[in-house]
Amino acid sequence: MQCGCKDKTNILKVQGNRDLVSPIWCDKCGWNIKLDELQISNELKSELISWNLCYRKLINPKTGEYIDNWIEFREQYDRRGCKLSERLQLELKEEYIIRFESFI
Ligand SMILES: [Zn+2]
Repeated sequence: MQCGCKDKTNILKVQGNRDLVSPIWCDKCGWNIKLDELQISNELKSELISWNLCYRKLINPKTGEYIDNWIEFREQYDRRGCKLSERLQLELKEEYIIRFESFI
């Protein structure tokens, strides 16, 4: 798996973002990890992608600002993100340590 670290990383962070497809990052160097580089099921891959895409719903496209009920939105978003992180940990087993971080 490719990232900016000299040694192979084993700590991954799950964090939603607006601009990239993958919500997975190297927790050491901050490199965005492509989902195809991870040995995980296609089902989990597509759920991670669709979860990450929800991030964009947080921003009002007309004003570029957060939507009014963003606190409620964040709760749901984080709950789903935590569950997906747990599943990611299960599928990757002990090879990696998975950490979830909210986007704000
Ligand atoms: Zn790295």
